Amino acid sequence: MEAYPKTTDKPRKRVVNKAAWKRTREKLERYSSPGAPKKPSCKNHCGKTFSCTLLTDREIRQFHDMFYLSRDKLKQDAFILKYTDHCIPKRSRKTTCLRENRAVSVKYYIPTLSHKKVPVCQKTFLGILRIY
Ligand SMILES: [Zn+2]
Repeated sequence: MEAYPKTTDKPRKRVVNKAAWKRTREKLERYSSPGAPKKPSCKNHCGKTFSCTLLTDREIRQFHDMFYLSRDKLKQDAFILKYTDHCIPKRSRKTTCLRENRAVSVKYYIPTLSHKKVPVCQKTFLGILRIY
């Protein structure tokens, strides 16, 4: 009974513009915040090395908002670089990197409200920014 003919073929003018706009929009969507920052769910194991559990809601929110202030991928990348340390093991004995990982190890920081950088674990960092 539902066999009525399709009459939805609208004339397609300005297709190019529309497509370009859609692409721009999709790009923006991709780099905008996917939702509220995830609160760190770290237990004691993070307490010694990281300060995940010490972060306040405001600090978590602030960091998240700062990141999504710009929807530009390059700026977001730069932002991440600013709050991470990429530590390449040196050949000298006095390496600042810790044991096991021979590859580049990354340290993550989150600024407190007093602009102090506190070290957090990767899980917390990525969770707050909602990037995986
Ligand atoms: Zn943690």
